[in-house]
Amino acid sequence: MINPDFQNNPPLILVVDDEKTLRMLLRRVMEKEGYRVAEASDGSECLQTCQQIKPDIVLMDAMMPVMDGFTCCPQLRSLLGDDCPPILMITVLDDPASVDRAFEVGATDYATKPIFWAVLRQRVRRLLETRWAMTELQRQIEREHILTEQLEIANQELQRLASVDGLTELFNRRSFDEYLQLEWKRLGREQAPLSLILCDIDFFKLYNDTYGHLAGDECLRQVAKSIRQAAKRPADLAARYGGEEFAVILPNTEVEGALYLAEVIRASVKALSIVHAGSQVSEYVTLSLGVARLIPSSQSSPEELINDADKALYKAKVEGRDRVELIFFLQSIVTHQTRALLRIWQS
Ligand code: GH3
Ligand code: MG
Ligand code: MG
Repeated sequence: MINPDFQNNPPLILVVDDEKTLRMLLRRVMEKEGYRVAEASDGSECLQTCQQIKPDIVLMDAMMPVMDGFTCCPQLRSLLGDDCPPILMITVLDDPASVDRAFEVGATDYATKPIFWAVLRQRVRRLLETRWAMTELQRQIEREHILTEQLEIANQELQRLASVDGLTELFNRRSFDEYLQLEWKRLGREQAPLSLILCDIDFFKLYNDTYGHLAGDECLRQVAKSIRQAAKRPADLAARYGGEEFAVILPNTEVEGALYLAEVIRASVKALSIVHAGSQVSEYVTLSLGVARLIPSSQSSPEELINDADKALYKAKVEGRDRVELIFFLQSIVTHQTRALLRIWQS
């Protein structure tokens, strides 16, 4: 098949020959086949015409005045690049050197004069069919390329949706669990510390009761943004742990560093100054935070780290909220200096 739309859009043939009668003859034969035909009388006219009309095939004489076919072929190829149509050279030269030269300069096929019309018709047809098939293949490759790209984008978006919390755009619980497992194993091999901060909004039920669920959602978004901005090291992972609870995983982080970050988070959320009339500890929305730290080992588990942070968080609640706490056994290893600093931050 040359092209399924042959009737409405017949292929365009450019006949390049200095002999007017031969051009006319070629035109008549090709038009009888249903093709459209344009003419040029030498190589340089062929170059000009090809830029204007973009033929589907060029029937090129070898010997012409001004610019012959051997000179025109390579110029046409470099002018049109990948869009260059097939070039069928038609010539009286039938010696092997001329045939070789024709193919060397870029002819696609070769026919000799006097023209054997039945063969020429078949050759033209075959060259047009090949060109159409190649164009179709190219189009298909491009379509597949676009589809692959779209699929890639959709996959990435799907992965993002599967790992991110829809409301706050922090990582979700699933990502938190996966990352904690991963870092637990890695730091177990390295025998390096892994710290965890659990944060819980104080009196959030009352916030919802006072300002409505939508305002509650907006508050969650703002708190999440503060946490994300505070935990900015590439290895830190901030996640929405549950309703109004957030967690930050801090690989290779000692307890002092975790305490410091927890305090930064506490202060930055309070600095948002989100009015909370129902809170019993502040006029603004506040967080209670629990910090835990372990060196992963086969005797312990990630759950233990979460439990420790949860206990510390509970302690922060019991001791008055709007504060950062550690569980008891960690307090003894924190230096006096850090504790003094923490007291200053908390005052
Ligand atoms: P505490 O200081 O002891 O933490 O008290 P609290 O009121 O914050 O804790 P409680 O667990 O009693 O209430 C948590 C509230 O968080 C209740 C629930 O409706 C609200 N909550 C959980 N998820 C969402 C959410 O996605 N959007 C909104 N607006 N509220 C939520
Ligand atoms: Mg809670
Ligand atoms: Mg709460």
